Amino acid sequence: MKKIDFLIVGQGISGTSFAWRAYFAKQSFIIIDNEKSVTASKAALGIYNPITGRKFNISWNYNNLLNELNEFYSDVENKLNVNILHKKNIFRPFKNSSDNNEWNVRLSSNRYQKFIKEINEVGVLTKGSGYVDVKKYLLKSKKYFKKNNRYFCDTFKSKDLGISNDFFSYKNKKFRNIIMCTGIDEKNIKSFNQIKLDSVSGNSILIKCENKTSHIINKGINILPINKNKFHIGSTYYQNVIDEGPDELISKTKQKFEDNFTLIKSMFGIRSASNDRRPIIGRHKHNKRMYIINAMGSKGVSQAPYCAKKLFNFINNNENIDDEINIDRFRS
Ligand SMILES: Cc1cc2nc3c(=O)[nH]c(=O)nc-3n(C[C@H](O)[C@H](O)[C@H](O)COP(=O)(O)OP(=O)(O)OC[C@H]3O[C@@H](n4cnc5c(N)ncnc54)[C@H](O)[C@@H]3O)c2cc1C
Repeated sequence: MKKIDFLIVGQGISGTSFAWRAYFAKQSFIIIDNEKSVTASKAALGIYNPITGRKFNISWNYNNLLNELNEFYSDVENKLNVNILHKKNIFRPFKNSSDNNEWNVRLSSNRYQKFIKEINEVGVLTKGSGYVDVKKYLLKSKKYFKKNNRYFCDTFKSKDLGISNDFFSYKNKKFRNIIMCTGIDEKNIKSFNQIKLDSVSGNSILIKCENKTSHIINKGINILPINKNKFHIGSTYYQNVIDEGPDELISKTKQKFEDNFTLIKSMFGIRSASNDRRPIIGRHKHNKRMYIINAMGSKGVSQAPYCAKKLFNFINNNENIDDEINIDRFRS
């Protein structure tokens, strides 16, 4: 029986990114997903943004992540003949004059300069950002892979896996490698029980509103204009696994749009995150052909293309995985 190069478990942002890496390198793979209706990827706004957090830090490795994501999603767009990557600036209104001063100080730093487009008396416009239409990315990728017999709806269970020295068998097929991309469900599957994943749940909402904003607005929450009169708004962060509902977001949205909007849909998902809030990429301690891409936290869209490339090159060319995202950092 012919061996397939990869079994990819999970078709969220992480698994889909790895599948395209394998596809573009002309390697064989099958991707399976249990098609849960509630996942982190299905709730995501899809924003990528160089400057994040309360302290407005520049995200880890952002220049490389940005180059990689631009190239990666453009390649996928060309292959699928769809538009999924949307470059958009982010407008951050000032709360007070000290905000204004702090942004002018940042403007004098080389690291920030390339991401600041304009500062005026009401706020700052930053660049190097945008969003990926995650829903379209996942659905169109799934459809394409399904047509090519590379996607199947299936729930992975460790007990169905046969482990030999140089391959795995799974449901009458042989695979050289397995890539676990199951997000927070890795906590139940426990194939990598040496890592600890935190559950960070959250909501996003879709609204309809007569507003002409073309930039993403970042004011405590992100307000993302996705098409005429339609906005995707998020997100909330809770250290639990319960759906707290959209109330917090609705009340924050009212501060911006008063009552002039209609709620279309409310979404919920659980992000998986590591202790140090960096992705976890690498090889299993004992099963040398089993690998993981996980802990994308709130930055799956920008981190997954880079992480999938790093893991792919590690498996195929023995190239290094950066220490900051390598699973080895959790092993003594
Ligand atoms: C409200 C909210 C807003 C967000 N906004 C953004 C944003 O704007 N930008 C951004 O970059 N990130 C955002 N994120 C974070 C982003 O969603 C995550 O980083 C990303 O989705 C993680 O993707 P993943 O593929 O690793 O995991 P998941 O999305 O959890 O995907 C895992 C997949 O594996 C499948 N699976 C699980 N177990 C099994 C099994 N046993 N067998 C088969 N399949 C299985 C699941 O069904 C799922 O499809 C947001 C998250 C939330 C919750």
